[in-house]
Amino acid sequence: MEDKADLDRKEARRGKQVTAASEGRNNFGKCKIEVRKKDNAIMCDACREWFHAGCGKCSQSLYRVLQEEENQFWFCPACKPNIMQDCAEIKRLREENTAMKKQIQELREKYEELTVNMNQTEDRWKAKEEGIVERAARETVLRMEILLEKSEKQREEKEEREKRKKNLFIFNLLESKKQLDKDGD
Ligand SMILES: [Zn+2]
Ligand SMILES: [Zn+2]
Repeated sequence: MEDKADLDRKEARRGKQVTAASEGRNNFGKCKIEVRKKDNAIMCDACREWFHAGCGKCSQSLYRVLQEEENQFWFCPACKPNIMQDCAEIKRLREENTAMKKQIQELREKYEELTVNMNQTEDRWKAKEEGIVERAARETVLRMEILLEKSEKQREEKEEREKRKKNLFIFNLLESKKQLDKDGD
């Protein structure tokens, strides 16, 4: 529920006649003649001073509109230029803000792109590194296998040589025994 003061305030802002609460208080517009309850009066939404509609250069049609429209603001001739300037400034700031937001968005997208690229590069390097390590390991194993094979072959050859030497020795031994037997006959 809105109390009386709220309603009065709302009506005052809407350009209704000056309210009982504000009558006799701060109610002097440009003409310096007191604004009374019976006058067609209007309060400036910037300086909050009361003006006779005529003194405030508020036409009858605008006055009627302000009485009907809930969220219409009205500014006195003194405040209006400042308000216009403020509006222009706000518009400019809003445009700047939009441009800045766009720039931030672009930078964010660029940053994300860079992060993705960096991760991809890192992955590529990692894969490359892993490839190098794997190849080195494979080559080491291969080299070890070759060495093992070589030493195995050498061992076999050595064994073969030893065997042949032994056989030759036995052969010689048998031969000399045969000779001795023959001599002994
Ligand atoms: Zn006046
Ligand atoms: Zn004003």
